[in-house]
Amino acid sequence: MMHSAQHWLEKIRALPLPERVRLMNVCGGHERSISMAGLRKALPGQIELIPGPGCPVCVCPEQDIYQAIHLALNEDIVLLSFGDMLRVPVNVSKKAIRSLEQAKAAGADVRPIASPLEAVKIARAEPHKTVVFFVAGFETTCAPVAGMIAEGMPDNLLLLMSGRLTWPAVSMLLESEQPGFDALIAPGHVSTVMGSEEWQFVVDKHQIPAAIAGFTPESLLAATYSVLRQLIENRPFLDNCYPEVVKPNGNPKAKALLAQTLAVVDAPWRGIGVIPASGFELKPDYDSHNARLRFPDASSQAREHVGEMPPGCDCARVVLGKIKPLDCRIYGTACTPRTPVGPCMVSDEGACRIWWASGMRK
Ligand code: SF4
Repeated sequence: MMHSAQHWLEKIRALPLPERVRLMNVCGGHERSISMAGLRKALPGQIELIPGPGCPVCVCPEQDIYQAIHLALNEDIVLLSFGDMLRVPVNVSKKAIRSLEQAKAAGADVRPIASPLEAVKIARAEPHKTVVFFVAGFETTCAPVAGMIAEGMPDNLLLLMSGRLTWPAVSMLLESEQPGFDALIAPGHVSTVMGSEEWQFVVDKHQIPAAIAGFTPESLLAATYSVLRQLIENRPFLDNCYPEVVKPNGNPKAKALLAQTLAVVDAPWRGIGVIPASGFELKPDYDSHNARLRFPDASSQAREHVGEMPPGCDCARVVLGKIKPLDCRIYGTACTPRTPVGPCMVSDEGACRIWWASGMRK
């Protein structure tokens, strides 16, 4: 039986809570639901809800965005990207093109798309053109891309892969001296694909309570109650609070497609550095569709921009949950949704954008 948000709030308020307890979520959908429903204010003050690495656009490394802009401007191609990415700025002089959106305004053929299917349609409709699909996303985005690859792509469709796995970022935090959270609200979407067991390491290796949540306030509060009880009783386990959708083993077909087409590689995260085994790259069988191999000059030029971040941008620390969006010095001043300095203010899954949309001001 599904209980109401009020039911869970009452149960949480009745718990003997410690002075301070920090719960991290790693999903933009979770953060949006928490912020829009006002859960932070509704929960007892000791409970801190921390947005963590849950936005794939926010972690897309600067060099990959440079590369996409460079290809769009300098090669005779069509550049496709999910819409959020178009406005993410990179750090070049004000006179230069700073985003895919500006490249498009300058005449480059940059087109926003919503699904891999659209990429295939465009490539088929324009067979004389080289079409480069810039893929930034977590497991849930990369699984349909894997399906597209396995089905057979048109020869003129290339991929610039910037896919990432979620759990290695959580693992990196937990391996660090100060993880910054006491329990994990694990992402429902990722678990749907990869299986609930994806998060078992949080409990087994780190003895940190974890609960998988869906996207409604009720589901998030049920997961919150679960991890709080685990903490209080000192009895960490992985609780699946989204069992109607998340199953053990996840989606075996999607996982098989991922394994067939994409290799898991060490990969850079924006402003964070390389996280071992955290990226998806095309397997060698698909080299002829790999934009990095087709345009090696753009790849080497892009590498020169590693670590270049717009001045004042604190997105990396926001993504890692080390600071809250309001702690960034330029939140709401230099950086707003109309004038974004970092990706967290651009993407619908970015914590800064979500906090701004829910009315959070300094
Ligand atoms: Fe990044 Fe802007 Fe958020 Fe600061 S306010 S963390 S620069 S998106």
